[in-house]
Amino acid sequence: MVPYRPKSSKTSQRSPRQESQRFQGIPASPGVAIGKAFLLDSEELPFSRKTVSAAAVPGEIARFEEALIKTRREILVIQSKISKEIGAEHGEIFNAHLMVLEDRALIEEVVARLKKEPLCVEFIFSEILKKYIEAFSRVEDEYLRERTSDLQDVGRRILRNLTGSKRRSLEELTEPVVIVAYDLSPSDTATMHRQHVIGFLTDIGGRTSHTAIMAKSLEIPAVVGLEGATRRIRPEDTVIVDGTNGTVIVHPDSQTLKTYQALKQKLKTIDQALLKIRDLPAETPDGHRVHLTANIEFPEEIPSVIAHGAEGIGLYRTEFFYLNRKDLPTEEEQFKAYRHVAQAIHPHPVIIRTIDLGGDKFLSELRMPREMNPFLGWRAIRFCLARPDLFKVQLRAILRASVFGKIKLMYPMISGVDELQSANRILEEVKKELIKEKKRFDPNLEVGAMIEVPSAAVTVDLLANHVKFFSIGTNDLIQYALAVDRVNEKIAYLYEPAHPAVLRLIRQIIEVAHEHHLWVGMCGEMAGEPALALLLLGMGLDSFSMSPANVLRIKQIVRAVPTFLAKEVVKESFRLSTGREVEIYARKRLRELIPELI
Ligand code: PEP
Ligand code: MG
Repeated sequence: MVPYRPKSSKTSQRSPRQESQRFQGIPASPGVAIGKAFLLDSEELPFSRKTVSAAAVPGEIARFEEALIKTRREILVIQSKISKEIGAEHGEIFNAHLMVLEDRALIEEVVARLKKEPLCVEFIFSEILKKYIEAFSRVEDEYLRERTSDLQDVGRRILRNLTGSKRRSLEELTEPVVIVAYDLSPSDTATMHRQHVIGFLTDIGGRTSHTAIMAKSLEIPAVVGLEGATRRIRPEDTVIVDGTNGTVIVHPDSQTLKTYQALKQKLKTIDQALLKIRDLPAETPDGHRVHLTANIEFPEEIPSVIAHGAEGIGLYRTEFFYLNRKDLPTEEEQFKAYRHVAQAIHPHPVIIRTIDLGGDKFLSELRMPREMNPFLGWRAIRFCLARPDLFKVQLRAILRASVFGKIKLMYPMISGVDELQSANRILEEVKKELIKEKKRFDPNLEVGAMIEVPSAAVTVDLLANHVKFFSIGTNDLIQYALAVDRVNEKIAYLYEPAHPAVLRLIRQIIEVAHEHHLWVGMCGEMAGEPALALLLLGMGLDSFSMSPANVLRIKQIVRAVPTFLAKEVVKESFRLSTGREVEIYARKRLRELIPELI
């Protein structure tokens, strides 16, 4: 990642606070947005070290007690909701939060210090909390060390109640704005398409965090991993979001504003020009046909999929169904949504991916247990196999919808044959139940596995006997192969799709799958990146699935580059030893092959 480095460029007619500032972050979703900033949340809560009079101390103690009571009430509500909806054992994780609230030592220390030092209670509490967190994070006992995050969570909740600061909601929006937030939760992003969000900026996150993926899907320019944006950008500031380059300009001068307005117009013109190839096949000049499909999170995205000429949906991320709500989606509700998508996209296929919760997508209301390594933890197919009750509801809905169009099904995060067989076994059980109930489904429904765990990547030959297709999930495959957390902006510079290890894995997956006469698609972000798509074309990838807005750009490449040339680029790339060298080389070759490509 490029570190956050504000550059100032003074403009004569502005006050010092209005100085133009330029920040660099991680480009998450291309395009330009210009508008006023709306601060959703920040890392820091609004309080400072404030002296109070001796007479005000009892009042401060009372405020502290009220905040503790309010926090306790909030936690009890969450706990009971979770116990009811996903089981008592999950509700129990909040006992640790309640214990923090009842910790006499901590409470007494705050009260004692208040009596000694006449400072506002927010400040005193935050100081003591910091001390506790530091002490907990240093202890050897792993269990106690893990309680640090409970302390942090509860502490922040208490501070929010003390300062009366609420996290603002996107529902407050009445006019177009650029959202500035520490991070966006899946429930924020899930409602964004209904709000007036023209762009967004976050302090944390990487190129393939769910926030970045959603921004691309919604065609909202975005920059993530800005480290400190919420501290430096103020509400109502005018900001330019350059999501293509990861640049943010606050208080732009009139010349910069003009330049970006022109760039925005130019990008619009290019997109319109690309519409000319919308209905032409994704075929290379030497007659090699590939499939370009789209990734969606919501059925509402279908018009965009059709408008960009995608030949179906290569990844329908169904977990968004489970987010931003207080109950679980019923079979009927899911059935209707899947049927709608299948019918709307017909005659093209839709690949429905079974629930991939966990990682950076948690049930917002139901909450899953907090884990030390969520991406390596109870996620996706692991969660589904442990909760067959939930999994079966989804499988029933998918199967029942399969008679209304061309539905395929795929499992996320498969790590080996056992898991794949277990999932297939549950699917067979569900089919039997439906037959018994005389409910129709497509008996030839194709089942595939995502290849996103290295152990699956190197055992494609073994997995091949149990599926009809593979879809490479590079967003995860890269993070697992390179040991780089995909949402951590501090190590984003190591997240390299063109790393030789990643390219070798991909080539091997494609070759082995083809030896077993299976087709291979890719639904990770890599498939929609022009220079990398050129390499994938040369490696023989059959199907590319991406954000709808990228489809025509990739089609332009496919239609311009003969396969022998794409293969040549791959051959040369495999002689290079770093991801950076490969990216530079592939970009250069792409520019030479298609000079008109932007
Ligand atoms: C992937 O991992 O590449 C993928 C498409 O799945 P997700 O981004 O939803 O984890
Ligand atoms: Mg994945």
